[in-house]
Amino acid sequence: MKIAKDPVCNMSVDPKNPGAMETYNGKTYYFCSSKCKATFDRNRDRFIEKA
Ligand SMILES: [Zn+2]
Repeated sequence: MKIAKDPVCNMSVDPKNPGAMETYNGKTYYFCSSKCKATFDRNRDRFIEKA
C-alpha cells in the first residue's frame, strides 16, 4: 500500500510520513495530523464503519 487515506478528513496520507498513525483492532490507520487522530480516537466506531 503506497498511499493511505485519512479516515477522518479523507485526505491521502503517505504511510512513510504520516502526521499521526494508530493501530486499532489489528489495522493501522494513518492521519494527516494529530488533530485528525484525536477526532478518530473520540469517535472510532463511526470512522471505522466508513473505512
Ligand atoms: Zn486529516
